[in-house]
Amino acid sequence: MNDDETPVLYIKVGCSLCMEGRRGGVFANCAYCNHERKTYIEASLGEIAKYVADLDNQSREMFVTLLYRESPDLNDNE
Ligand SMILES: [Zn+2]
Repeated sequence: MNDDETPVLYIKVGCSLCMEGRRGGVFANCAYCNHERKTYIEASLGEIAKYVADLDNQSREMFVTLLYRESPDLNDNE
């Protein structure tokens, strides 16, 4: 990754432009969402924290292991 690249995570949400298909007219064939009437937006830090908190124990253990392996700066035990 280059220094000028910022990693970003996205979440899939209902389209706010066509209101998940409820708006008609020019939004009947909305160009901003997929066939499920969903679109991707940048995940806030709060959403990421909620996602990690909601993981099952095995997945959370795996996440923490990978996090500490990939980012030695975060590991203050050494
Ligand atoms: Zn839409």
